[in-house]
Amino acid sequence: DDFFRSLPRAKYGGRHTVTLLPGLGIGPELSQFVKQLFRVKGVPIIFEEITINPAAEGLEEMDNAITSIRRNGACLKGNVETRSLNPAVVSRNVTLRNTLDLFVSIYHCLSYPGVVARHKDVNVVIVRQNTDGEYAMKEHEAIPGVVECLKVMTRPHAERLATFAFEYAIARRRKRITTVHKANIMKVSDGMFLEVAREVSKQYPDIKHDDMIIDNCCMQLVSNPHQFDVILTTNLYGSIIVNLIAGLIQGQGLLSGQNYSNQYGVFETATRNTGTDIAGKDLANPIAFLSASADMLYYLKLQEHANRLRKAIHHVINVDKIHTRDIGGNALSSDVFAKIYEHM
Ligand code: ADP
Ligand code: MG
Repeated sequence: DDFFRSLPRAKYGGRHTVTLLPGLGIGPELSQFVKQLFRVKGVPIIFEEITINPAAEGLEEMDNAITSIRRNGACLKGNVETRSLNPAVVSRNVTLRNTLDLFVSIYHCLSYPGVVARHKDVNVVIVRQNTDGEYAMKEHEAIPGVVECLKVMTRPHAERLATFAFEYAIARRRKRITTVHKANIMKVSDGMFLEVAREVSKQYPDIKHDDMIIDNCCMQLVSNPHQFDVILTTNLYGSIIVNLIAGLIQGQGLLSGQNYSNQYGVFETATRNTGTDIAGKDLANPIAFLSASADMLYYLKLQEHANRLRKAIHHVINVDKIHTRDIGGNALSSDVFAKIYEHM
């Protein structure tokens, strides 16, 4: 899209080299499928794979991944969760996003007509603050028993995020952006986030802009998600909202998420699940990870390959209805993949 100013650079002999970070849990098995699919179906991608040792909690492997993404410009990523509650152990996912300045996350929450869910025909885009905000990781115990946690907002970052949201809305022919916040309580931080969104909106008269308090937004989403078009929101609210919508449309195994800086694109599943309990059992729904792969192909301007994959996904889920357990079926991951192969 036009708003990605610089394109990924690593392209040799017509093939893009991209970083593959399989991550933990179900990530490695889904990565294997995608590698095989791309190879067999002639998708011109070479994966540079960085494995993460499940037992390690340090940043060494993540540093390697970051270097690789800097070189390649694009990355397909499984989840690398950090479960430790020890404050000295920092989240590797958050480190990756902060170091690469992946300032925005986009989730296109679109219902699959072939999947039975609480709500049908949902079509909402979430534009989420992806660095800073509540995830600034600036917490400390001031004196024993007194803890402070900083939510960091800066005007330039709020501006580029809001601008991204409006540019995205224009590019995708969306009509309305709702800024979701808690400015009635967090008057300074969320207050600025909202004020900046209002300012930026003045440059885009064709897009309607309004706002909603996060509490009300959750209630409105559950009762009538169809009223929303694009939601612009902060880091933590964005994470909660995407998981809420995933619940409404059975999306945790279906939806993909895109993370962007001015230079890099990192593609993963929307709800960033590890799926520890189902790993290695051929039970994971591979659609979210496949959709992330399609998003990456689109970003690399391999639209034809991206569309071929998206069409195959659509056919398998909506027409053939080969569904894994999480969406009410009893197919295995490998059954879904076999059909995807067939359609591609
Ligand atoms: P955990 O953090 O405990 O590993 P997750 O947050 O990864 O759990 O996932 C939450 C729940 O959603 C789990 O029960 C997991 O099995 C399920 N889940 C996550 N991803 C998928 C998927 N791709 N297909 C099927 N189920 C999934
Ligand atoms: Mg989890």
